[in-house]
Amino acid sequence: MRTRFAPSPTGPLHLGHAYSAILAHDMAKTAGGQFLLRMEDTDLQRSKPEWDAQIIDDLTWLGLTWDGPVLRQSKQLRSYDTELKTLEDMGLLYPCSCSRADIRAALSAPQEGQVHDIYPGTCKCRSMNNRQSGDALRLHLDRALDLLSDKMPVFTETGDSFAGLNQITAHNALTDIGDVVLSRKGEDIIAYFLASAIDDARQNITHTIRGKDLFDFTQIQVILLTMLGLNVPVYHHHRLIRDENGKRLAKRDDARAISKFRDEGATPQDIRKMVGL
Ligand code: GLU
Repeated sequence: MRTRFAPSPTGPLHLGHAYSAILAHDMAKTAGGQFLLRMEDTDLQRSKPEWDAQIIDDLTWLGLTWDGPVLRQSKQLRSYDTELKTLEDMGLLYPCSCSRADIRAALSAPQEGQVHDIYPGTCKCRSMNNRQSGDALRLHLDRALDLLSDKMPVFTETGDSFAGLNQITAHNALTDIGDVVLSRKGEDIIAYFLASAIDDARQNITHTIRGKDLFDFTQIQVILLTMLGLNVPVYHHHRLIRDENGKRLAKRDDARAISKFRDEGATPQDIRKMVGL
């Protein structure tokens, strides 16, 4: 078993992250496997070295150890061009100049509860030959589904109380995923979920352990990995750590930052108890 914790160093490590990291660490170590640490710092504006250092300090304080050096995606941004080129050669990319406001305006109904807006397809008929320098690149999902046709991917999913095979269907992909951005505007910066999936494959991760809020991303990643002919890990989606109002913790929840509990005298054992371990 080979697991990883893959934080984006854009804020403090809070209880939700600690739960994810401890779970991935303990599952690997209990099985005699390996646990890796990867900084997903492709967002060069929001990622900060001070958050990177704080995350490492908090994980070390929690008693977690990882195998090998920390991988920082920002150090290998160009390496993902290979996979983007493969998708382009398969005819699965198109350029898009829509702003977030354009997309909102083109959507007829608000997309409550979705992790992202389903792209309405405004630029879908554009070809890569007329890509302009400020364009993003989107996945042409219909074409990807056509290529997969009767071989729609199946992946193994586990969770706190279930384990089984999950079949991706064209219908779910179109309603939950849509034509996602794979490379952001301007500087060819890879989308987080593509870089994350590629690195899971490159680092031979057998079990991707993370919160169940990322389930839609799992569907996208399984499709992309299958298109790229890369290994699809088992996805373990764990329960979310919520605040007293039942809201999922977010980066801005500094009140639940591990560093704050540390300052108040909590022990690593206290943190394990707080997250129900
Ligand atoms: N980097 C992502 C985040 O911090 C998590 C990615 C993952 O675990 O797959 O939200």
